[in-house]
Amino acid sequence: MNREWLEKDFYKELGISSSASQDEIKKAYRKLARDLHPDKNPGDTKAEERFKAVSEAHAVLADPEKRKEYDEARRLFASGGFGRGGYAPGGGYTGGGGFTNEFNLGDIFGGAAAGAGDGGLGDILGGLFNRGGTRTTSRPRRGSDVETETTLGFREAAQGVTVPLRMTSPSPCTTCHGSGAKPGTSPRVCPHCNGTGVISRNQGAFGFSEPCDDCRGTGSIIDDPCVDCRGTGIQNRTRTITVRIPPGVRDGQRIRLAGQGEAGLRGAPSGDLYVTVHVSQDKVFGRNGDDLTLVLPVSYSELVLGTTVSVPTLEGRVGVKVPPGTADGRTLRVRGRGVPKRGGGAGDLLVTVKVAVPPKLDDEAAEALRRYAEAEKAGGFDPRAGWAGA
Ligand SMILES: [Zn+2]
Ligand SMILES: [Zn+2]
Repeated sequence: MNREWLEKDFYKELGISSSASQDEIKKAYRKLARDLHPDKNPGDTKAEERFKAVSEAHAVLADPEKRKEYDEARRLFASGGFGRGGYAPGGGYTGGGGFTNEFNLGDIFGGAAAGAGDGGLGDILGGLFNRGGTRTTSRPRRGSDVETETTLGFREAAQGVTVPLRMTSPSPCTTCHGSGAKPGTSPRVCPHCNGTGVISRNQGAFGFSEPCDDCRGTGSIIDDPCVDCRGTGIQNRTRTITVRIPPGVRDGQRIRLAGQGEAGLRGAPSGDLYVTVHVSQDKVFGRNGDDLTLVLPVSYSELVLGTTVSVPTLEGRVGVKVPPGTADGRTLRVRGRGVPKRGGGAGDLLVTVKVAVPPKLDDEAAEALRRYAEAEKAGGFDPRAGWAGA
C-alpha cells in the first residue's frame, strides 16, 4: 500500500459515498472510465490525470481487502493515530504533504495484508500509459512498446504479405544474454535487501519500505558487469524482423505484435510492437471495405449490344458479362473476387461501366452512325423521355 493513498479520497474521486456497495463502485467507475478514457480524449492531460485517479480509486475500492485496509488506514489517519509528528524525529518524514515513501501496512494489520498493494495498480496504469516511471518494487520492468510504420502496395495490403521491418531498439545484450553480468559470472542476490529490492525501516509501530540503495531496487548485485552493455543487460541493436501482415489491412490501420517491442531489463518480458500500415493507391483498383472497385471503359455499342470483357482481379483475370442494354454507370458485381476477409471468404469485385466516346470518327464510321441515328429515331427511342428537364 502506498502512503499517498491516505491523502486521497477515493470515494470522492468516484463520486460515491463511503458506504457505497461494490455494485455502485463498479457502476460509477465504468461510467467515469468511459468518459475519461485516453482514447476518447487524445492529448487531454487533465482527462488523463482524472482517468488515472479514477482507475486508482477503483483498483483499491473494488478489491474488498484493499478497501478495508484503505478505510482503516484513513480512519487512523483522520484520528491522528499516526502521521501527525509521532515519528518525525530522525525519520524522513517532516510534516504534512511529504508522503513520498511507501509504507507497509502489513505491520499495522498483522502481516496478513503485507504487500497487498504491490504491483497491481502499477501494472494497471503502467499498461495503459506505459510511462515506465520509477518503480520501487524489485519486479523486473517490462520493455517499452515500440511504434513503427510501413507502407504496403495496394495488392499486398489486400492479399496479406510478409515484410521485413528494420528497427533500432534496445534488445537483450547478446554477450550476457540480458543478465548484465560478465559471461561466466552471474548476479548475486543483494544481501542488504535479500533480493527484494526494498529496505524496511521500523519506526515505532510503523514499517516503511524504501528502494534498496545497494542494488538500486533491482534486488541483485553484479560484481563483474558485462563490458558490452555495462551491466544494463541491454544493447541498442538494429534488427530486422519479419512481420506477417494479414490480408485485408486498411490504410492507417495499426497492428499489434505481442512481444516484439523493446526488451525488458534483465530478463523482464519484452514490450509490444505496433505497426501502423500505410497503403498506397492502385492504378486499377479502389476499395470499399472488403469490396474491390474498378471502372471499366466500354463503348456505346458494347453497352447496347452486350459483350463480355476480361478484367483483372487480385488473382488472375475474369470475364465480366455486360448484358445488352446496360446503362452507362451501372455497377456489375462479381461475387467473391474482392478483398479476402478475416476468417475466410472474400468481398466482391464491383465493376462500374463507363462509356468512352471516340474523339473523332472516320468517314465510314461517321456515315454509319448518321444512318444509325435516323434508325434510332424512327424506332421511337427518345433519350429524354421521362426526363424531368424536358
Ligand atoms: Zn551484456
Ligand atoms: Zn538490495
